[in-house]
Amino acid sequence: MEKFQGKSVLSGVAIGKLYIFKKQEYTLVKETVTDVEKEKERFRGACEKAKEQLSRLYDKALNDVGEEQAMIFDVHKMMLEDLDYLEAVESMIEEQKVNAEYATNATGESFAEVFANMDDDYFKARSADVMDISKRVIRVLAGVKEGGIDSDEPVIIVADDLTPSETIQMDKSKILAFVTRFGSQNSHTAILARSMNLPSLINTDIQLLDEYDGQLAVVDSFNNTLILSPDEETLAAKEKALAKWRADLAQLEELKGKENETRDGRKINIYANIGNAEDLPKVLASDAGGIGLFRSEFVYLGSQDYPTEEEQYKAYKEVVEGMGGKKVIIRTLDIGADKQTYYFHLNHEENPAMGLRAIRICLERIDVFKTQLRAIYRASAFGTCSIMFPMIISVWEIQRIKEIVEEVKKELADEGLAYGEVELGIMIETPAAVMMSDELAKEVDFFSIGTNDLTQYTLAIDRQNECLETFYDSHHPAVLRMIQMTIDNGHKNGIWVGICGELASDLTLTERFIDMGIDELSVSPTYVLPLRKRVREI
Ligand code: PEP
Ligand code: MG
Repeated sequence: MEKFQGKSVLSGVAIGKLYIFKKQEYTLVKETVTDVEKEKERFRGACEKAKEQLSRLYDKALNDVGEEQAMIFDVHKMMLEDLDYLEAVESMIEEQKVNAEYATNATGESFAEVFANMDDDYFKARSADVMDISKRVIRVLAGVKEGGIDSDEPVIIVADDLTPSETIQMDKSKILAFVTRFGSQNSHTAILARSMNLPSLINTDIQLLDEYDGQLAVVDSFNNTLILSPDEETLAAKEKALAKWRADLAQLEELKGKENETRDGRKINIYANIGNAEDLPKVLASDAGGIGLFRSEFVYLGSQDYPTEEEQYKAYKEVVEGMGGKKVIIRTLDIGADKQTYYFHLNHEENPAMGLRAIRICLERIDVFKTQLRAIYRASAFGTCSIMFPMIISVWEIQRIKEIVEEVKKELADEGLAYGEVELGIMIETPAAVMMSDELAKEVDFFSIGTNDLTQYTLAIDRQNECLETFYDSHHPAVLRMIQMTIDNGHKNGIWVGICGELASDLTLTERFIDMGIDELSVSPTYVLPLRKRVREI
């Protein structure tokens, strides 16, 4: 039996086999080859393997998400049969006597550039695809394994760290718990783990040794521990703890249908945060009053290319319709910083959290922004839908956004496409927005305070950096004063104010927030009932 210590992100107990999730990085090198025929053979073999992978991915996607989403893997397979592409790689190997990895990458890049410069949107979009298939062939050539979970039973994932896109692409039915060696409480991976209601530990002092793979383990994040190969006595105790945790969760169920009301009659709204339509059943099961934050960028992160208007419309409509008239607040895409997708082709930035992210991308890339707004407006015809905009710092931004929104509404009306009444709000997650909240409140219907970023920018502490946790105080008076100021300025101007950052689920602050006059708290579905319980005790 071995014991490891971590920090809890979501408290719970899980018992199952350990699954060591290793990132397989590959660095491209240019090499000279002497046997060009052998190298060409290696390339052809890799293409065949890549096509087999794509067939498997097609079948999985067909089963999990339907034919429309699965088609992309079929398209990739066809591209890998394209003679121009195959001949270009082989002649580069032959003429320049370079290794297959290098030739595949160079050919992929030059084909991608040709596609990117075409006028036709369809061909432009193929630019990302040709890079994707090239990278797949390179991974096969270099012997890099695919990142999925290769197990028949649900497992405890142990990794160095997980990016949001790795997490979102995992098959959730195969995961019992997350354990990472690095990571911070406010990273998006931690947020995803919470929204999946999975016991999770970060900063765990375990090494990723192959021999651990498949061993029985216990995650007890109530006690911040991971226990490997537990002895009989420990296992029996943890099985009891697991049963108790499940019983406590079952008891919370009794609060369903009850009001979020303090003993002295103050009521608030408790909404849920989600990342995509797959989270909807959890929201419905949680009895949340609405969705206070739909992080729409996860629709982009789960996709190999810009999601089309139709794809987005389908995802938003599913959520809006599924909520049966309850409010759904969709946040426009917040790509950038730790949420990267290669097809956005964002430049490398020294300081991405302060760089081109969120609304800044949307205001620079109006085409991308309008596609999303059209999809949201069309979905709004099926329920109660609001939109909120992230990372706002200035009044002109919201004024410009409203002009674009008007253009979109006019386009839809001209095309005879229906849309509903949509409230427009902003996230208050920069100190600038707090200081301007009296002015900003005159422009919008509501404020939702993003305490994750607001804390990061107020305290000048990178939310991703676990080394700064000594300085990081999530109850810092500067942040609490900013929350109070935002609520006061919102109320003075007659709009409602909520919190959708992780602080909203900090039960030690619930009473304080209610005293401050908060109208809404939006938390991961897991926390809806514990928060209702807390409110009812006040
Ligand atoms: C926040 O910053 O608090 C927030 C809710 O947005 P995100 O965590 O997605 O940046
Ligand atoms: Mg934020």
